[in-house]
Amino acid sequence: MSSIRLTGGRVIDPAGGIDGKYDLLLRDGQVYALKPTGAQNPADASVIDVRGCWVVPGLIDPHVHLRDPGFPEKETILTGLRAAAAGGFTSVAAMANTSPVNDNPATTRYMLTRAEEAHSARLVPVSAVTKGLGGRELVDLAAMVEAGARLFSDDGIPIDDAMVLSRALDEAKRLGCAVSLHEEDRALSCHGALNAGEVSKHLGVSGYTDSAESERVRRDLALAIGSGAPVHVAHVSTQASLDLIRAARRHGAQVTCEVTPHHFTLDESAAMVWGTNAKMNPPLRSHADVEALLAAIRDGTIDMIATDHAPHDPNSKQMERVGAFFGPGHGSPHLDTGTAEAFAAAANGVVGLETALGLALQLVHRSLIDPPRLIAMMSVNPAALLRLQGGTLAEGAVADVTIIDPNLDWTVAPEKFLSKSRNTPFAGMRLKGRAVLTIVGGEIVYDGRKN
Ligand SMILES: [Zn+2]
Repeated sequence: MSSIRLTGGRVIDPAGGIDGKYDLLLRDGQVYALKPTGAQNPADASVIDVRGCWVVPGLIDPHVHLRDPGFPEKETILTGLRAAAAGGFTSVAAMANTSPVNDNPATTRYMLTRAEEAHSARLVPVSAVTKGLGGRELVDLAAMVEAGARLFSDDGIPIDDAMVLSRALDEAKRLGCAVSLHEEDRALSCHGALNAGEVSKHLGVSGYTDSAESERVRRDLALAIGSGAPVHVAHVSTQASLDLIRAARRHGAQVTCEVTPHHFTLDESAAMVWGTNAKMNPPLRSHADVEALLAAIRDGTIDMIATDHAPHDPNSKQMERVGAFFGPGHGSPHLDTGTAEAFAAAANGVVGLETALGLALQLVHRSLIDPPRLIAMMSVNPAALLRLQGGTLAEGAVADVTIIDPNLDWTVAPEKFLSKSRNTPFAGMRLKGRAVLTIVGGEIVYDGRKN
């Protein structure tokens, strides 16, 4: 196998307490050595000059939807993993709401085989908690771990039956796995299309209250404390949920949580411009919630950043019926009843793999967090959640590495995405910083220097 020497960069490895100028040598798929810049070079290594860049353990996304098997018009494992690599991710955890649902070892094995063939970022299978995401009958959790699953989640659908979740937590704990929770009380969210507030009223679409999230977080954290099982709150979006997570930790809950770049970057008003491309579950929240999310990123309450990459074709997003009402410069649309209904019927979610790092880097440029904290949130902590080998550049670690140019100016251009889908509220946004090179197992799987 080849050797690569990355020279002249700023190596940031929070797990090893390293932040400084080093050369990183990769050999045989592993981190071989970390040496002061300019040290003697093995003759067979290909040298890559990464001056001005950060060299970090490969980014890991604990929450993506790759739509494969089942929805090739939206995404496939191949296109999704290529999009991940282009975004700087070396591993992504693929949720189970495919068709068929990933509730059986054969589907898990299919996903891993497709990923192997892609020669790109790695796929980390997430198993469903309940068969068919039906919320009643538990999957064979042990068999799913045996097949390669690293996390359990019915994401997209909450687990309404507390008894079912309770049994799942006990079994997952026994297997050493966390359960990732989509926190939604559907009696309170009532199929709301946007955060319940001025914007939902103005557009005439149904509202999704913040209590629909926090009330379910409250119940599930009580279950987590009772069972002692590790739980992970997916895509946290409200101040009330954050307060409950802080309180549960004081009571000994083993709880981690993630936030998406769209929830900490945009508030509910984005729907006035971007229409259904700003519609997701949970919805974009109030300005006060966004401020609370940023404070929780700063104080460490939030452990990690997840994209919740949710590709959709224009048809699913009802673009033909609502698209004409929205867009930059369209003003403040009022929707007639039929259009509001189409809005409500549109699929939830946005693509995120190719914008997440650029958006997260704004936290550093705004001095909210320092670079090691960003890398902890995007690599170290997701690796721990998923019990992966990555998240470190220690000698002998797997050679999954991301090279980031933190100062590269670029503009989000959805037509250039490697993802099959374009549903983003960030089109045209100017960002500073992105991945320029992504290395998986010592092999370059994305090279943005050619662009
Ligand atoms: Zn979800």
